Amino acid sequence: MANLSLQHLDKIYDNKVQAVYDFNLEVKDGEFIVLVGPSGCGKSTTLRMIAGLEDISAGRLLLDGMDITAAPAKDRDMAMVFQNYALYGHMTVYENMAFSLTLRKEDPNIIHKKVLAAAEILGLTDQLNKKPKQLSGGQRQRVAMGRAIVRSPKVFLFDEPLSNLDAKLRAATRREILLLHKRMKATMLYVTHDQTEALTLADRIVCMSMGHVQQVGTPLELYDTPANLFVASFIGLPPMNFFDVTVEKDCLRNANFTLPLTKTEQKLLLDHIGKVIVLGVRPENIAVGNTVTLKVTNNENLGMNTLVHGFLQNGAAITCKLRGWCDYQAGDSVQVDFAKRHFFDKETTNAIR
Ligand code: ADP
Repeated sequence: MANLSLQHLDKIYDNKVQAVYDFNLEVKDGEFIVLVGPSGCGKSTTLRMIAGLEDISAGRLLLDGMDITAAPAKDRDMAMVFQNYALYGHMTVYENMAFSLTLRKEDPNIIHKKVLAAAEILGLTDQLNKKPKQLSGGQRQRVAMGRAIVRSPKVFLFDEPLSNLDAKLRAATRREILLLHKRMKATMLYVTHDQTEALTLADRIVCMSMGHVQQVGTPLELYDTPANLFVASFIGLPPMNFFDVTVEKDCLRNANFTLPLTKTEQKLLLDHIGKVIVLGVRPENIAVGNTVTLKVTNNENLGMNTLVHGFLQNGAAITCKLRGWCDYQAGDSVQVDFAKRHFFDKETTNAIR
């Protein structure tokens, strides 16, 4: 069992920088939580407070109901995997993985069994006698994970573990981490600035900006019903397009287009008639049609899809992800429709629901 309860956590560093404001989260046993947000938003600070590597300035942290707010890192029964692997260069893979257990003076036979079992899970059985410098980046990252696994901790903490890997290896290691989670059914908290990692790994995502939690939810919830403009622009690649529009009774209007509203949308926007709101449309929800005209600046052919970048007449930028291989030229006019539409209050930036 490993339930974590994060209650009103604040972090104020000695230089008075407040890195985290009122962070609340109930992590269920076996859950995979991903903290995502741009660099500097307070993800690592939050993880390090959980690990016991940073003091908690205010709030409470409970592990299975036990208050561990002030407990030293070594007493928290958590294992952390770092971006830079933090392996001992003079030790073999085997020794690196066994190190924490040796330190705890566990029975050598049990240590041996645990290291072999972890090596088996991670495909490192043939590498046990090598030194870290003889391994690839991906293998080193697996040794770092192996070191965490042998400890059978209650909670695994990952701080940007894939950042130093190239794109292909990152995708492969991401799948391995997912399989590892399924196999071990362990509680995991994972920090990344990469929204793809968040969407593909998480049971639930915590999206942060400037020390504040913006939204907590499943990947689909954050993708489909972002709580505000920040989450809408951060989750999804390429990012959502945004346009200022005036709400009329049965349509949205601006200098470029008039979009009829469905009955459901009319009801949703009833209180905003006459006001300017922000319309959000994901590139993948745009298709060739007849309501909006854009001027193409350039194409990016991705094989199955083409990213078409351009501008509307009033200069608003737009990116569409159109199906198939498109060969538009710069300056071409293309007419499109917006399928799924998101609405945001321009002042509060919150989604209109
Ligand atoms: P992230 O992990 O999202 O990139 P961090 O948690 O590392 O963000 O940092 C959040 C904020 O706290 C940043 O403004 C950063 O400059 C600041 N910060 C991080 N560590 C320290 C520290 N040891 N002392 C003072 N400020 C820090």
